[in-house]
Amino acid sequence: MHTGCRFASVVFDVDSTLVAIEGVDWLSDRRGPAVADAVRQLTSDAMAGLVRLDDVYRRRLELIAPGPADIAALGEAYVDAVAPGAPDLLARLRAHHVEVFLVSGGIRDAILPLARSFGLQDARVHAVSLTADARGRFTSAAPSPLAAAGGKLTVVAGLGLARPALAVGDGITDLEMRPAVDAFAAFTGFARRPAVVTRADAEFVDFSALSTWIFGEEVPWR
Ligand SMILES: [Mg+2]
Repeated sequence: MHTGCRFASVVFDVDSTLVAIEGVDWLSDRRGPAVADAVRQLTSDAMAGLVRLDDVYRRRLELIAPGPADIAALGEAYVDAVAPGAPDLLARLRAHHVEVFLVSGGIRDAILPLARSFGLQDARVHAVSLTADARGRFTSAAPSPLAAAGGKLTVVAGLGLARPALAVGDGITDLEMRPAVDAFAAFTGFARRPAVVTRADAEFVDFSALSTWIFGEEVPWR
């Protein structure tokens, strides 16, 4: 029986999807419990709609003030925390000439080592670049739609994706990509948000099940 890939392109979220960690939380843990708690409170406030996402992005960076060594360490942590089965799926997609993109609100320089471990070119990674202050600390983000609400949709709509396209992620900002993609798969191996899952076309707790679905024959979202 013929099985091919039912998508011409796939867009992956990174934190809590391709990797088991959240980069900002991981960085804040290196600063001790006070900073870690403050950062998590800001994230929670943003998810509850109490603070604007772009304000939260700036305030979290100011609290953590990561330096080059922190970003490099996070890059290694991402590679170590890769989801089981994710490298196999990405290799299979590339073997089938499916276009793969990583689109993340995370820190681009920290995500690049992970992308390279998958054999992806840097140009396939869309995330937030940081700018250093006078002390060499990355306390501000370069202007990017990915540091604000709705940014993933803006970026993905501009990629000129080959269709049909699939987005895979765990968050509401991943679900919001769907007007620019044809299907959204909720990945719940690390975090499960009912508001995301109920509106997804499919839900997967691991990458081998996702791989079977992507390379299957049914088209369940039609
Ligand atoms: Mg995520």
